[in-house]
Amino acid sequence: MTANPLRELPSVDALLRRDDIAGLVVMHGRERVVAALRAALEEARAAGEARPADRLAAAASATLSRPPSLRRVVNATGVIVHTNLGRSPLAEEAVRRASEVASGYSNLEYDLAGGSRGSRHRHLSGLLAELTGADDGLAVNNNAAAVLVCLAAMAAGGEVVISRGELIEIGDGFRIPDILRQSGATLVEVGTTNRTRLADYVSVLRPETRAILRVHQSNFRMVGFTESPSTAELATAAAAHGIPLIDDLGSGQLTDLPSLMDEPTARSSLEAGSALVCFSGDKLLGGPQAGVIVGAAGPVERVRRHPLARALRIDKLSLAALEATLELHRDPAKAAARIPVLRMASQPSADVRARADRLATLVGGMVVATTARIGGGAVPLLELESHACSLEGGERLAARLRRSEPPVVGRVQEGRVLLDCTTLEDSDLPLIAAALAGP
Ligand SMILES: *Cc1c(COP(=O)(O)O)cnc(C)c1O
Repeated sequence: MTANPLRELPSVDALLRRDDIAGLVVMHGRERVVAALRAALEEARAAGEARPADRLAAAASATLSRPPSLRRVVNATGVIVHTNLGRSPLAEEAVRRASEVASGYSNLEYDLAGGSRGSRHRHLSGLLAELTGADDGLAVNNNAAAVLVCLAAMAAGGEVVISRGELIEIGDGFRIPDILRQSGATLVEVGTTNRTRLADYVSVLRPETRAILRVHQSNFRMVGFTESPSTAELATAAAAHGIPLIDDLGSGQLTDLPSLMDEPTARSSLEAGSALVCFSGDKLLGGPQAGVIVGAAGPVERVRRHPLARALRIDKLSLAALEATLELHRDPAKAAARIPVLRMASQPSADVRARADRLATLVGGMVVATTARIGGGAVPLLELESHACSLEGGERLAARLRRSEPPVVGRVQEGRVLLDCTTLEDSDLPLIAAALAGP
């Protein structure tokens, strides 16, 4: 009769007495270490192998040091507001503010002057008014939520007029017609894909019409034989009918950056007469995920009181980061220097080139000229002059870089891996070198 090899497997208690395991207990706590050891023993039993204690300890250690599912990556794609890579990195000021609010109690919904209940929606009113010229403003969970709650508050049960040229899908299934339906408003399409005139809007206005909606085309552009009325013309027509113009700007650019000229700002839309303007917090604003709503006092108050504003409310960490980001926007030069997406978009191309040179020296690649993009549905036609470090190795190398810690995400082009330096920080370069030196 042959002895059962599994009898030779050590016990959990015996493993816990080892020095290397004791070290793991200090780092991860006894409970997690015991679970990891049990899993390692279970695996050995399933394989029918009497694995030595060394190997079991190593397996448990590997389990415990497995990286979390959601973690930082190095963005070497050259797409600045990368939707799949978490969009907009936060400025240090925003991170610090969120961390302060996260680690203690806060006056989130507390009026410190009166010592009574307050509203989270009040923290941004003043700043938003100052930055956009609006009477008032608030933030919700994201811009899709902002559009939804604006429509629900202003137009549920009635009709909303929109141009056929603006019935867009933004990505990840965000379709304007679906949002409209969810808000309880009925969609009235006017014009054609490429041409919509003011008269097209005016001809459908009737007592049931509750709002005109304008949606920024975001991630595509129509060129050639196109026509659409200006925001001011639409706002005038809406006002004459006693209804609001709601303008979904998408990207949330607050100041006119020379390189991003063709993105409309909230201020210009409000000056043209929009009653409500909404935009994302984590596109060109460069803040946390959020949807910002600014406008005239009455409409903003109506939005704030709508039950969906409660369901779609912004959380305290995003609110703290958003306030800090908006404070940076008070000074456009400071915003461009401190907010990562704006810094990347406005950095001199010579700096990008110099970074590519340093990376190539470090890892032995070739420097090539590339084009970087803003991404996130903003200024889709804008090509930013950029440089990349180009490496041999294609898809295989790209996959290996994605497996490193932190993962490095580049782009593969014609069998080479391009590491675009517009979206890299100088501090990323040694991480990339380590990833390339690894297994
Ligand atoms: C990006 C975008 C949205 C959606 O914003 P989220 O913050 O992703 O919810 C809505 N409308 C427009 C025009 C956009 O560009």
